[in-house]
Amino acid sequence: MSTEARRVQLQDSLNRTREAIADACERAGRPRDAVRLVVVTKTFPALDAATLVELGQADLGENRDQEAAPKAAELARRGLEPVWHFVGQLQRNKARSVAAYADWVHSVDRASLADALDKAAAAHGRRLSALVQVSLDGDTARGGVAAADVEPLAAHLASLDSIDLKGVMAVAPIGWDPAKAFALLAESSAAVRRVDPAATEVSAGMSGDFREAVAGGATMVRLGRNVLGEREPMA
Ligand SMILES: *Cc1c(COP(=O)(O)O)cnc(C)c1O
Repeated sequence: MSTEARRVQLQDSLNRTREAIADACERAGRPRDAVRLVVVTKTFPALDAATLVELGQADLGENRDQEAAPKAAELARRGLEPVWHFVGQLQRNKARSVAAYADWVHSVDRASLADALDKAAAAHGRRLSALVQVSLDGDTARGGVAAADVEPLAAHLASLDSIDLKGVMAVAPIGWDPAKAFALLAESSAAVRRVDPAATEVSAGMSGDFREAVAGGATMVRLGRNVLGEREPMA
């Protein structure tokens, strides 16, 4: 496909996706602009990410540092500075790299990772907005902290100098009713707001369940396939 044809395709899917989010807001009795769209560009080339920014899409997400770091650098070379959201499971030894380009980390699920990100952000002279990732089914092997541990982790994040505690994030467990998943996440959001009443962000909803997430109070949805198309199977 030519670059121009791809641009037209992305513009069209971006428009349709934004409209669908606004409609979901309206149906939920929320303002049409209540939810921020993060387009997850993982597995798609830097050129697609650059085109999205040129089309006015300010927030982009990635889930692996090995892919995100060079993509962010490529966009910066083109003079494009989106707001980068890191949404994937993160090892402590990647904190220094991620803190160099990410503005948000949605996947903070342990104090040791929070400390590493805080130290790395300080070393880069930057601040990071952080979300506590919640494991809704308690299977923390796939990332996220159990609901009972959300409040202490939030309190720890709130104590760090270069981290801004912003709220919660979750992925609805496979096979669950998404409405039930997002209702549970709302309880964790309340736990975080007991630590900091301003930490109201709720990152929830992917291409398959963003309408339910918006109905359940999401303030950010993370959409890949809806905007960019189906991904090649991960290597
Ligand atoms: C890939 C990914 C998304 C986007 O998923 P789609 O199904 O393509 O919308 C959202 N959140 C996380 C954590 C992801 O890894």
